[in-house]
Amino acid sequence: MPSQSKPRLNLRIVLLTFALISAAATLANTFWVMFKTQEQELIGNALDANRAYAMRIATGVEEVLSSDLDRLGYSATIVAETFTDQQQLELEVRRLLGQDDSFNSVLIANADGTIVASAPEILHLNGQALQKREPLQRRQPMISNAFESLSGNLVVFVSYPVFDVQGQYLGLVGGTLRLAQENSLRALMDLNHRQNGAYVFLVDSQRRVLYHPDPRQIGRIIKQDKIVDAALSQALGSIRAVDGQGNEMLAGHAMISSSHWGIVSTQPMAGIQDSLCTSALKVAKGIIPLGLLGLLLIWWLGIRLSRPLSRLADSAKRLDLPESYERISMIPVDYAESWQLRRALLLSATLLQEKIGTLNRQAQTDALTGLANRRAMQDALAVWLETKNSIAVISLDIDHFKRVNDTYGHAVGDETLSAVAALMKQNARPSDLLCRTGGEEFVVLLPESSIAAATALAERLRLSIASADLETVGHITVSLGVALWRPGDSMAEVFDKADQLLYRAKQQGRNQVVAETRSRVIERVH
Ligand code: GH3
Ligand code: MG
Ligand code: MG
Repeated sequence: MPSQSKPRLNLRIVLLTFALISAAATLANTFWVMFKTQEQELIGNALDANRAYAMRIATGVEEVLSSDLDRLGYSATIVAETFTDQQQLELEVRRLLGQDDSFNSVLIANADGTIVASAPEILHLNGQALQKREPLQRRQPMISNAFESLSGNLVVFVSYPVFDVQGQYLGLVGGTLRLAQENSLRALMDLNHRQNGAYVFLVDSQRRVLYHPDPRQIGRIIKQDKIVDAALSQALGSIRAVDGQGNEMLAGHAMISSSHWGIVSTQPMAGIQDSLCTSALKVAKGIIPLGLLGLLLIWWLGIRLSRPLSRLADSAKRLDLPESYERISMIPVDYAESWQLRRALLLSATLLQEKIGTLNRQAQTDALTGLANRRAMQDALAVWLETKNSIAVISLDIDHFKRVNDTYGHAVGDETLSAVAALMKQNARPSDLLCRTGGEEFVVLLPESSIAAATALAERLRLSIASADLETVGHITVSLGVALWRPGDSMAEVFDKADQLLYRAKQQGRNQVVAETRSRVIERVH
């Protein structure tokens, strides 16, 4: 026998726990995969959008700068012919400045870098030396990085060289863009204002901010920033990186080839996460009712699957009960395993009942004579005392049986006992209970009988035994006492009475019946 103690978990709990855990895990996994896929998609889309946006603005800036250069180029051809005419030069700078909002100031410098004409006049630039010497040396159209002008403004200088018809270098025509003021570049950038925390900024090749929606940032040099690194090293691209302020950003960047400036269009990752959370919440709201329904279904199924098994298991505890066969056969089974289990249990119940029946019969039968033993007699009495109106008791004892044993031996004695039992069976009614209660003592119980009927049977028994010719011992006789039990009487007293009457029969010479009535004792002496 296995010695393990009874497990605390039952099938229903195991089944439900397993089903619930696997359903929850599947749901969580699906949710996580969906969340991650959507996150990747949103990030990819944001990076693409920012790159496209940076490229569009870079193209716009390029156009503004090239049209600025075009205008200066045209001016250069005009002033080339009238470079010595101071009045013409003054007229030209005024015309150039007044043309549109492109420049905040315009100047013409000679080949030495001395400013010969400028507008607006209020700046008093004439006669001063050019701050930026590079255009004088390079003698080609140029867009400078940002620098601080003489008047203290942060500016970008756009210039175009002036050559006379012989190709001699005369100087340059230049315009400044004040970064903090309205001009064509700013107008373009402001036009592209963005929402949701997304914004665009422009840096020159020295990492100085030329444009930023936050005016305080303009002129600042961004030292360590991976996004700026990327913007100034690649023509076009996108990057997910932490910016100088420690925020995780999704940025697109493009380089302006004519000026080597970088455009960055960027948005915080936090915004993506917010919209992800919003959509995850929506998905969860959609999933939860269905999920709950699924769980309910699993719960119901678990109960349905485990119910017949737990009922069968319950019934299996008491297979020894006579009603267990009927109880098990009533348990409804609706799938193959439970059906097989029920069949096996029914088979076991049948076998067990048969086995119990055999054991009971063995336990209640006297092996030598096949008559009921004392225990069987008591069992029968337990029922009859509750249900019968009368029980007659015949006490029977073989006369001088010791002699039989002494004369012929115990084996013959046993044969004699069997022969007496057989004669008793022949004479009794089927409803009478024949018992061997001791060595050579017998009791006959007659339910629903009278003293007269019992005495008649006792007499028949006596006669039949006395007249029988037994194989070895020949003739023997028996003595009998007859008493009657009625409801209210003590059964023990009735047995005692029958024994006393039997004793009296012995005393009066044996081979006789002594019976009792309520009023008197009938004695038949032979
Ligand atoms: P009495 O007429 O007074 O009854 O005399 P008796 O010799 O029959 O005396 P008693 O009833 O007291 O004796 C019972 C004897 O029955 C004693 C014993 O040797 C014998 N006996 C008891 N049980 C068995 C048995 O199972 N087999 C055999 N062969 N003899 C038994
Ligand atoms: Mg005896
Ligand atoms: Mg005897």
